[in-house]
Amino acid sequence: MPAPSLESLVSLCKRRGFIFPGSEIYGGLANTWDYGPLGLAIKNRIQQEWWKRFVHTRRDMVGIETGILMNPKVWEASGHVSNFGDPLVDCKKCKERFRGDKLLEEKIGVEGAAVLTLDQVQPMLVAEKIGCPSCGAVDWAVAKKFNLMFKTQQGVIEGEGADIYLRPETAQGMFVNFKNIAQTSRKRLPFGVAQVGTVFRNEITPGNFTFRTREFQQMEIEYFVEPGTEGPIFESWKDVMWQWCLDIGLSPERLRIREHTKEELSHYSSRTLDIEYKYPWGWGELYGLANRADFDLTQHAKFSGQDMTYTDPDDPKKKFTPYVVEPTFGLTRTVLAVLLEAYEEEKLAEDDTRTVLHLKPLVAPFDLAILPLSKKEHLSSYAEELHKKIVQETGLVVDYDLTGSIGKRYRRQDEVGTPKCITVDFGTIGEDAAQGEKDTVTIRDRDTQTQERLTISALI
Ligand code: ATP
Repeated sequence: MPAPSLESLVSLCKRRGFIFPGSEIYGGLANTWDYGPLGLAIKNRIQQEWWKRFVHTRRDMVGIETGILMNPKVWEASGHVSNFGDPLVDCKKCKERFRGDKLLEEKIGVEGAAVLTLDQVQPMLVAEKIGCPSCGAVDWAVAKKFNLMFKTQQGVIEGEGADIYLRPETAQGMFVNFKNIAQTSRKRLPFGVAQVGTVFRNEITPGNFTFRTREFQQMEIEYFVEPGTEGPIFESWKDVMWQWCLDIGLSPERLRIREHTKEELSHYSSRTLDIEYKYPWGWGELYGLANRADFDLTQHAKFSGQDMTYTDPDDPKKKFTPYVVEPTFGLTRTVLAVLLEAYEEEKLAEDDTRTVLHLKPLVAPFDLAILPLSKKEHLSSYAEELHKKIVQETGLVVDYDLTGSIGKRYRRQDEVGTPKCITVDFGTIGEDAAQGEKDTVTIRDRDTQTQERLTISALI
């Protein structure tokens, strides 16, 4: 199935209530997006499935929720104040601003662009004759480092001492609580801490719909291990992350693993790989897996003056700073990848195209839809009762749609990715044997469009 154009997906998302432009009635706010009823349903499902898989069902994992606002010292210790920036270049002609490394990626590769020093960026743009995406001029100012953290002020008094940051990652909340968690959960190494939450990055070039936004959500894990054991643990997380990608419906042909070169590694990492997805505009990061070693705990011990070591409960003489393997998943980016993967404009006949989202049931906004064939009171009340019964007895998420021809209603459900539709007709209520026997319904499959007749008791 070819990748859809981004425009078709954006249009479907707006039309069917997945994702809306932010603050739309005021003309919007660039690159902000709001999740509508169906987009939120998908996002919640992904998050719940992730939590179930990585926290609930594992004895070596616990969850946590920490604040978006943290003591600014956290970001000094973590290196974000001094290191968390991108090379910003200004076009001298039209004054637009871009990320220099991103402009160069196509010509010199992601790895090549990532290792450039700040003073190499502008000469390289000129040497490669890279024009401004906005006006085409090759007239670049010298690159500057731009810190991506959003700064705000705490309290009522503006000025010195009140500066505070919105967190750019959830990870640090887990590091600063390492001791609290280790002591209260009584977990032994290796164990992991998971967190899902909103983070903020003042991206220079947000865009490609929800791929790069300034406010987004992450699902992160910090997995604490004894130094020396991280190698195989890193490998097993790689496998687990890959399997997760397949299970939410991403196809292996659109996935690849890219190891960071030594020069490219972040300040905290001794090994990093990205799981990349093939978006309509090319390969880009979906998830990351990093070996952060003891960088963060050591830094926090240094900056806070607190002991961040772990003592082996079986051998109190064995005291050390754990290493950390970090699998990190962008939640909002996952929603985008899942939607892109599922989207198809299927040609059925010369003048008939069906838009369908082939979402895995695990991530579909609805499990089922109930469609009464007629609005007639005695038929629709039967369908309403059936809806209630299925929801109560199975916990499935079930849509109910009464209006429009049955063909149109099927197409509407196809567009939002509902895997199965149940049609209640006059046969179901015992009034028309030609349509089917009493208490049987038609089940229609989204992907194959085939229909079968089943008894209601076989259904629940
Ligand atoms: P990129 O190279 O795309 O800027 P990154 O390497 O800075 O990403 P991480 O710091 O590893 O990203 O963040 C973890 C995850 O958060 C990424 O794998 C991605 O899924 C997601 N993510 C990062 N930046 C954004 C963003 N601006 N908008 C949406 N999701 C993002």
